Amino acid sequence: MRPMSFYRSKLEAIFLLAILFGLSAPAEVPAKKWNAQWQPVKLVNGSPVLFRVTAPLQFTELKGSFLGQEFSFRSSKACHCWYGFAGVSLTTKPGTYTLQVEGKDAGGKEAAMSYLVRVSAAHYPTSTIKVAPAFVEPPKELDPVIAAADAAKKQAFAATDPSPLWSGAFERPTDTETSGVFGSARVYNGKKKSQHLGLDFRASPGTPVHATNAGTVILARPLYFEGNCVMLDHGQGLLTVYMHLSEFKVKEGDRVAAGQLIALSGGTGRSTGPHLHFALRWRGEYLDPRTLLDLHPPGR
Ligand SMILES: [Zn+2]
Repeated sequence: MRPMSFYRSKLEAIFLLAILFGLSAPAEVPAKKWNAQWQPVKLVNGSPVLFRVTAPLQFTELKGSFLGQEFSFRSSKACHCWYGFAGVSLTTKPGTYTLQVEGKDAGGKEAAMSYLVRVSAAHYPTSTIKVAPAFVEPPKELDPVIAAADAAKKQAFAATDPSPLWSGAFERPTDTETSGVFGSARVYNGKKKSQHLGLDFRASPGTPVHATNAGTVILARPLYFEGNCVMLDHGQGLLTVYMHLSEFKVKEGDRVAAGQLIALSGGTGRSTGPHLHFALRWRGEYLDPRTLLDLHPPGR
C-alpha cells in the first residue's frame, strides 16, 4: 500500500478501498438474499406477529401465509424490507408452523420461500371478578338488547378495509398504568368462567382515550356487556376495541388519525369499576394488545 499522503483525500482512499473489497457503489441496491424475522421473537398462542422479509428480487408484491391465514406484505424504504401483520390464535397448539412467502416482480417473475416458526404455550393467569349479577346471567327481558348488540358487533366485525390504514407503531390508548392482562381466565361471581380478551388500563372516569393508530370508526355506540364502545378498523381485518367509555368523541364512519381523541373513559357495561378495556381483534380472533403495543413496525 502507498502511504495515505499519496491520495488527494481520505475520501478517495476510502473509495478505492471500497472497490478493492468488492463493495458496490452506494447508489446501487446490493443483491439481497431471502431473510425473514418476526416480532415478538418468541411467539405464543394469542400473539400478534409482525413479519419482516427481505427478498432477492425487486418484487412489486409479496404475499404471506401463516396458520391458515393469507396476508399481504407492505414494502418499506425505511428498512428496505417488506413487513406484514399476522396472528397466532389463542387456540393454536404449541408446535412448529410454516410461514410461506411468495413474491412477484414487475416482469411477472415469481419466487417463494418458507420458514419454520416455533409457537410456544402462553401461561395466562386466573383472576376472580365480581360484577352485578345481571351481567353474569342477564334476565330474559334483556334478550332483545343483547341480540341487537350482537348484530351491531357482527356488522362491525364484517366491515374491514381491503387496504392497510395503519402505519408505524401502535400507541397506548391512555397514558395510565395497566391493571388487567390479556388471556387471564376469569371467574365471574364464582360462577361463569371466561377468558379476559383485552388489556385493562386504570382510568378514572373522563380520562382521554386515543386511537392507537389510524383507521375508520366502524362502531361507536352503547352495547350491553361492553358499555359505550368504539371499534376502529385499521384495514385487512385488524381492529382495535375500546370499552366501558363514558363519552364518544367520534361517530361511526369517521376517519381517525393515530393518537386522535376518540372518547373519554368510564365504567359502563359489564365493568368492575371505571377503567379502559382495550382489545385487538384480527380476522375474528382476539390477540394480546400488550404485544401489539410492543411491536416496532418501520416508521411512518
Ligand atoms: Zn378488560
